[in-house]
Amino acid sequence: MNDFEETGLLVRGVEIGDRASYVDLFVPSHLTRTSQVPELKQNILRMFPSIVDHQCDNDRKVDFVEELTDTEIAHVFEHVLIEIIGQEDELAVSLKAQTIWNWRLNPRWTYQIEVDYANEDIFLRSVVKTAKVLREMIEYCTFVNPVS
Ligand SMILES: [Zn+2]
Repeated sequence: MNDFEETGLLVRGVEIGDRASYVDLFVPSHLTRTSQVPELKQNILRMFPSIVDHQCDNDRKVDFVEELTDTEIAHVFEHVLIEIIGQEDELAVSLKAQTIWNWRLNPRWTYQIEVDYANEDIFLRSVVKTAKVLREMIEYCTFVNPVS
């Protein structure tokens, strides 16, 4: 199992397929959920107002704004990534995506995000932007105690 010194979000890898693309994301244990970074929700909504229109299929069966209160940071990464791809490529509407993790198969605190989008240049650029925006946002937030 890999041991990361990293204290922030880290994109471990990106893969572009024929129809879908993937991000392998590391999220350190002290910020795995949005509930650990309460200010994040407001910052996301302020910076990406149209994210309120995102459809979101989640366990709690709530809309994405409600889901933002307490969800995986990797799930937020997924939605921000879709939002940024949409800004870069106006033809990229209603992209489907999902965030999964399996810590028996992959290193702990890593998440795999799949987006049904395959334009390599735009995808790579959007992943870099998403990581930068989220890292900066999180840096200026106050943390609450980590959940175990
Ligand atoms: Zn979602």
